[in-house]
Amino acid sequence: MDLLNALVEKGLRRESPTREEALAVLATSDDELLDVVAAAGKVRRQWFGRRVKLNYLVNLKSGLCPEDCSYCSQRLGSKAEILKYTWLKPDEASKAAAAGVAGGAKRVCLVASGRGPTDKDVDRVSQTISAIKEQNEGVEVCACLGLLSDGQASRLREAGADAYNHNLNTSEAQYGQITTTHTYADRVSTVQQAQAAGMSACSGLIAGMGETDEDLVDVVFSLRDLDPDSVPVNFLIPFEGTPLAKEWHLTPQRALRILAMVRFVCPDVEVRLAGGREVHLRTLQPLALHLANSIFLGDYLTSEGQAGKDDLAMIADAGFEVEGTDTTTLPAHRADALAAAGCGGHAEEAAGGGCGGHAKEAAGGGCGPCGDGGAEPEPVTAAEPEPVPAGAVAEARDADGVRTDLVAVRRRGAGTDLPPNA
Ligand code: SF4
Repeated sequence: MDLLNALVEKGLRRESPTREEALAVLATSDDELLDVVAAAGKVRRQWFGRRVKLNYLVNLKSGLCPEDCSYCSQRLGSKAEILKYTWLKPDEASKAAAAGVAGGAKRVCLVASGRGPTDKDVDRVSQTISAIKEQNEGVEVCACLGLLSDGQASRLREAGADAYNHNLNTSEAQYGQITTTHTYADRVSTVQQAQAAGMSACSGLIAGMGETDEDLVDVVFSLRDLDPDSVPVNFLIPFEGTPLAKEWHLTPQRALRILAMVRFVCPDVEVRLAGGREVHLRTLQPLALHLANSIFLGDYLTSEGQAGKDDLAMIADAGFEVEGTDTTTLPAHRADALAAAGCGGHAEEAAGGGCGGHAKEAAGGGCGPCGDGGAEPEPVTAAEPEPVPAGAVAEARDADGVRTDLVAVRRRGAGTDLPPNA
């Protein structure tokens, strides 16, 4: 297929496809799917071999958000029955992080709901970063706290944050239909502030929110222009109790085409398979490892993923290997550029790529600009530790044809008394 041969050649040279080529990937048929995966897989292996980086989410503060991101179970007015709690203490967060590291995670992503942090919040997250780094040698830490104000990115970098996540989520044209309480430009600005402070930028998207192919290509080309080190690709988890609860548009084949398109447009960037992979890729998840070089281990912010041991088994069965802490994630040219920009700390981590913070949220919780407007911590809503089995059960649909069996609200790990999934 001429299109795929051309895209492989470009990917190996780190050259951008045209918009038309990117659109053509999304328009390929199911008969061509394995050819598309094989072609994008060549580009993936050129820059990342057969390594899979594991990342682990710690939801520092869940729910109670004043923003209105339609995809998010933590949004203002959300009726999703998620865990709601205020800031974890540094030792609680460190304990949660340690579980992920013990499960093989190389990066810990610290996420908090809200529009953006207050300076006091930055102080508490700084203490949490210190606690995690003291207790988990060599771990990378990514912060995902929403929109940043002047000086906050530098303070987080000084506190030891290796990366900062803030997703663009969707195209600029569609953004106003998804969120009204902040703008696309706000998001771009925060990613740029993180980069300017020397942190590795992580910024990605959420697919499945009713966007067109053009929207998807627009946001991925915008991300390429922003040049983050990692791009989390989330697939919407249509949470009951949110405005997008009935948006069940994705198929496993569509999800793979989207991942392939992202790999062709961002060939040498850490492409992270983020929230929604279990829900939308289902039994085709292993094929996605040929496209993405990074995944989240275990659970998401407000929803449960498949068991961590099943993630590890999937990676091994598909012939991939978990990336160790002694390996630089990014290709040398990107790692060197990042180190020169000031994101160093650990030689190998300097290259560590980005985080998926809100991406995973897009799919399970959500955080983008988060902000409690400087309010003091709200009282913690007691977690009701009713373990919900991770993983899919028998297929079920409601009267509208909506799958009701695939989304499991997180009831374990951070904010509960139950052990985390890692
Ligand atoms: S994505 Fe972040 S800012 Fe948006 S509603 Fe969810 S928690 Fe709030």
